[in-house]
Amino acid sequence: MFRNLVFASFAAATIGNAFGYGNAGHQAIGTVAEHYLDGTRALTEVRKLLKPGENLDRAATWPDRAKLPDQYLTAEMKDFVANNPDHHRYHYCDIPFQQSAYKDGITGTDKRDIVHILEICIQVLQAPDDNRENPLKIDKRVALMLAAHLVGDLHQPLHVGCSYVDEKDEFVDPETGAKGQQDAGANYFHLKTRKGSPLHGYWDTQTVKSARDHLGVEDFPGALIKTYPSKPEWDGQGPVGTWPAQWATETLGLAKLCFKEITPRDRFLVPKDDKHEEHFEWVITLPPTYQDQSRDTVEVELSKAGYRLAALLKAVWPEKKEDAPKP
Ligand SMILES: [Zn+2]
Repeated sequence: MFRNLVFASFAAATIGNAFGYGNAGHQAIGTVAEHYLDGTRALTEVRKLLKPGENLDRAATWPDRAKLPDQYLTAEMKDFVANNPDHHRYHYCDIPFQQSAYKDGITGTDKRDIVHILEICIQVLQAPDDNRENPLKIDKRVALMLAAHLVGDLHQPLHVGCSYVDEKDEFVDPETGAKGQQDAGANYFHLKTRKGSPLHGYWDTQTVKSARDHLGVEDFPGALIKTYPSKPEWDGQGPVGTWPAQWATETLGLAKLCFKEITPRDRFLVPKDDKHEEHFEWVITLPPTYQDQSRDTVEVELSKAGYRLAALLKAVWPEKKEDAPKP
């Protein structure tokens, strides 16, 4: 996600925290999903929507590639952007990390947050006809690519929870009536110095890089599946349309850990520009065990997100057509 970050060039967009879980993370999730979809009707339906040679790992990065400057966009992306000018917001919600559950209407949620958008994608995929009469004006193909990406983002803790910081540089929960400035998914927390990497980007890309180095870059998705095989508790409860909110609630629990033993300090004022209002940013230092813990967390989340993307698609396209959910 680079919702609050201005990027000046294509080069800038390919580094740092520009791409949600980073291309490597989203691609791994897509490949893990394909593993769990092997031989299913759902994969046959997925192939019909994707282009020849395209698979879920490529599809999973489409919504981030749609954020690039206009000259890099395909006609399909341009059309999506024109109909969804605020599509950058679709990738996250900003729930105070102290909260225990995703609840529609609380601080940091809105009609264009990641949970609502993924719910719409599921509805579009479940609809009997492939038309664009939906709030996003998207067809099933774009709904599939959005879903493949957003399931991944929903498993990045800082795409669900964030912190709010009061005048004393302490974390507060606005839902209790306290006033605090939001940290933009921890984009406003810099590691070690004011110019240090944002904590958000650390979780998007550094953790995935550490996980690849840890498990092996040769076949990273295969290593994820082997090291973290699916568990019964990864399955969603009830109808597939309710799973996004369940996953957000679970990920919010991990967001709490992102801020554990973190103390914002050395606040500095960042002036208003064409993308941001005037706001404060802070410097933070990570506790000694943070790096290993965040890496281990992300390894599980990537494997789980891949399994859940497959589960979502299998729920949309069950094996027998007569089992298909009523629209
Ligand atoms: Zn994203």
